[in-house]
Amino acid sequence: MNTTVARPGDALAEDSETTPLLRVEGLNVTYRLAGGQLRAVRDASFDVARGEIFGLVGESGSGKSTLLTALMRLLPHGTGVTADRLELNGTDLLGMSEGRLRKLRGREIGLVPQRPMTSLSPVTPVAAQLRRLTGGEVDDERMHELLTDVGLGGLKRRLGDYPFQFSGGQLQRMLIAVAILAREPGLVLADEPTTTLDATVQAQVLRLMVDLRERLGNTVVLVTHDLGVVAQVCDRVGVMYGGRLVEVARTQDLFDNPQHPYTQALLAAMPSNRPAGARLNPIPGSVSGAHALPGCPFAPRCARADHVCREVDPLPVESAAATVRCHHPGGTE
Ligand code: SF4
Repeated sequence: MNTTVARPGDALAEDSETTPLLRVEGLNVTYRLAGGQLRAVRDASFDVARGEIFGLVGESGSGKSTLLTALMRLLPHGTGVTADRLELNGTDLLGMSEGRLRKLRGREIGLVPQRPMTSLSPVTPVAAQLRRLTGGEVDDERMHELLTDVGLGGLKRRLGDYPFQFSGGQLQRMLIAVAILAREPGLVLADEPTTTLDATVQAQVLRLMVDLRERLGNTVVLVTHDLGVVAQVCDRVGVMYGGRLVEVARTQDLFDNPQHPYTQALLAAMPSNRPAGARLNPIPGSVSGAHALPGCPFAPRCARADHVCREVDPLPVESAAATVRCHHPGGTE
């Protein structure tokens, strides 16, 4: 497949590969459920360099949002989280006290939520909520500057209004203003930030996030189910399936020469005339139960699966320009 992906961040990629801001090695997340345990993320390892936009892509239930939430250390109490390394700017996040983490969130790690409408209270004016999200550090004048910076200067007299009086795109821009601009955190975590927006507004919000990255040099981890979003904004991408990071590569390499059969299936399922924002076509079979399989989680849906695949969970290997968890990577046979 030869898909040319032009991304605004190309100029940053070379430097960003040498000095990771975020380092994740051997991350495991286990939910304790009434009927047993669910290993939602298994042995995930990746680095994200300064100024890089790193995409985490996969189907619903693949573990991508759990992984993102683990980076914030915001998983429910009792969830098992272990890692050989989980570092932000050289600082260990896993052993950090809750008090220190609270200070870190917002100041050094910003979060752009999936659903702007439901992440705000419907009964409180937006101005009070935005101010709270900045830790109370932003006065009216600064708030107006922030909103002007994200193209909402015309709304500054409406900040006493309630969330339902704004569009989803306007609310997401406001939340981006407080998450990224107000305190300029080095790391921004964005969980499907455009999934509830229509295609035109989605493109505008993605453009805004890329523009802010260009201006501020912040690092972004962006969770999405949409390879079209990855193609538009991400420098590198990790593909998740069944709790595993099955392929990590630069975006251009992933689109040109995917190595994992699941990545190949995802790309093949994208209709060539697919409108922006459309969901992926389903791949035959289901991800259900993949987390618990003894071997490769994709084996029940993979035409290349053999007895080794069904019995031995593949470890990460280098294949072409990717790191891939597969016993038979590359090719399309
Ligand atoms: S390890 Fe085997 S089953 Fe899994 S993706 Fe690779 S070829 Fe398919």
